[in-house]
Amino acid sequence: MNITELARILKITPQELRDSLPKLGFDIGQKAIKINKSVASKIIREWPVLRKRLRIEQELASRQDKIEVSEEIKNKTLLIPAFMTVRDLASISEVPISSILAILMKNGIFASLNEKIDFDTVWLVGSELGLDIKKAEKGEKNEEEKEDKLKIALSKEDKSKLLERPPVIVVMGHVDHGKTKLLDSIRKSQVVEGEAGGITQHIGAYQIQRKGQAITFIDTPGHEAFTAMRSRGAKIADLAILVVAADDGVKPQTVEAFRIIEASKIPYVIAINKIDKEDANIEKTKQELSAKLGIVPEDWGGKIICSPISALRGDGVEELLDVVLLLADTEAEDIRANPYSDAVGTIIESHVDKGAGPVATVLIQNGTLRVGDQLVFDDVIIGKVKTLNNYQGKKTKQAGPADPAQIIGLKTLPQVGDVISVGEGQKIRHKKIRTMDHQTAYSANQSERENKDCQVINLIIKSDVLGSAEAVEESLEKINTKDTKIRIVKKGLGNISDGDIKQAEASHALILGFNVKLSSTAEDLARERKVDIKLYTIIYDLINDMKEKLKNIKITKIVRKNLGIMKVKAIFKTSATGQIVGGLIMKADINEKSKAEILRNDKVIGFGEISAIRCGKEEVTVVAEDQECGVSYEGDPIIEAGDILQFYVEVEE
Ligand code: GDP
Repeated sequence: MNITELARILKITPQELRDSLPKLGFDIGQKAIKINKSVASKIIREWPVLRKRLRIEQELASRQDKIEVSEEIKNKTLLIPAFMTVRDLASISEVPISSILAILMKNGIFASLNEKIDFDTVWLVGSELGLDIKKAEKGEKNEEEKEDKLKIALSKEDKSKLLERPPVIVVMGHVDHGKTKLLDSIRKSQVVEGEAGGITQHIGAYQIQRKGQAITFIDTPGHEAFTAMRSRGAKIADLAILVVAADDGVKPQTVEAFRIIEASKIPYVIAINKIDKEDANIEKTKQELSAKLGIVPEDWGGKIICSPISALRGDGVEELLDVVLLLADTEAEDIRANPYSDAVGTIIESHVDKGAGPVATVLIQNGTLRVGDQLVFDDVIIGKVKTLNNYQGKKTKQAGPADPAQIIGLKTLPQVGDVISVGEGQKIRHKKIRTMDHQTAYSANQSERENKDCQVINLIIKSDVLGSAEAVEESLEKINTKDTKIRIVKKGLGNISDGDIKQAEASHALILGFNVKLSSTAEDLARERKVDIKLYTIIYDLINDMKEKLKNIKITKIVRKNLGIMKVKAIFKTSATGQIVGGLIMKADINEKSKAEILRNDKVIGFGEISAIRCGKEEVTVVAEDQECGVSYEGDPIIEAGDILQFYVEVEE
């Protein structure tokens, strides 16, 4: 169908239609002239709903600039219970209810005034409003408890015993703005001579020595660092570097990262990266920082230092490190710990190693962790430290405050953001075991084995900001059923890459992109590897599609069907793996692929399989009732004369 014709039917202009379709999740280009007939009829059919959705989005876009949150509220930490009504959220944030509803709608959540929304949804709304939101103690208290663990440990310390420790720095920013490059550049230029080559593996954090002072860098840019920073209590970093590419400016994850940094109230410096590029524009980047985030650079009379750098060439990195040390100096009072206490730390990375089992990287925040120490999370023992590796991947005996260390020997896999400590706890009870389904990529085999009765769809979710990935995850969890389940094998930020496709292939996963793109090379690779990818801009559509997918899953069950019956009269041969027995067919229906259940005095005493049937000297495939025959039986050789063989087959239904 022609676009113009469709536009005429929908009573809008062709240009309006071309502009609207991508927003509604239809992959129609700006220059499209024709549209697939079935897609066109879908659009015509659903137009009343689609039009409504468009209006909401437009209204929100015009309204969003106008939503004002008072500075007083912004500076406050709002304590949020596990669930709260939209009305209550409006009340405590002092934002009009209509604005909250509009933000929810934009995220595909159609809630009413008195409907209860969960904490993550509140966080999503809060992050758009720039609110500092924390989970209150009630309900799921563990998040809050985690913070307490660390706080309690530090508050118990005698202030005079606290010693200086290295500052911990986290690098955040939009995907591709150069976080990894900067971390690499710092590591290469600063790691003590001779050590650089010795670093065999990355463990999520590293240390450098600068002007006689150690500095720890969290080396998990992107998703892991975001998650760790966001978990309450995971105040892992003392300072942050927010990386913004000078050729790209402030992007969605820049905003999200900034909100997280703000919420954790840690000092930060802006690294304006990629200044070597021709289209780099430092001034424009500063203008965007100021307009979109309210950051006023120091050279404009503000307080925030913006360091121009080229992570690629190394330009400005030394100066950036000087600024970091300067900021650390101003915070020196708080950058202290007691190395002589039992260790407390936060998990910054964890995975299951094929050979070594659960492997976790911890950042020690107080005390010293030693080989042999028993570790506890949430009052449950998670294992003993068998081996401790330092950031260079070398074995070490202990790790002190601000030291990253890799722990091997745990029984349970802790998750990123978990605060673990040395001490006494309960033994793991089975129901308490925390499995690895949070962040470990599963192989299809593993998932199939675990869920024999449950059909699982593996998913990889890529989104523009972590908030939406989590909102998607949260909504997907709700549509699981007893027999069908969605498992997220990976969630990440940014466009869909070749790596995502390879991982999807390996884990038999479907890739869902939310507000992200697919490069043409990735598209080709996906076609080649037969990996399915779906792109969405509206959560509601994504959830509906997945619901539909779950509904259409065929649930197969193995069902037993009884066949004939034979009374055993004689045993002709017995070996370790089976018997040849003869008898009378009391009820016909037996074939050479049957299984057999052995009954003695009406009780089942064993099972086996039939591999051949003979009548006289001939091998046959069927035997009639009242006929005598011999069968080769494979299984425990327990059949005796007088036993009954009930033949059956197992079929998939
Ligand atoms: P991340 O996603 O933020 O970790 O970004 P990366 O560090 O992976 O960098 C993304 C891309 O930008 C890579 O191709 C880098 O080589 C490139 N890049 C990073 N820093 C610079 C820089 O200072 N100058 C230039 N020209 N390219 C850079």
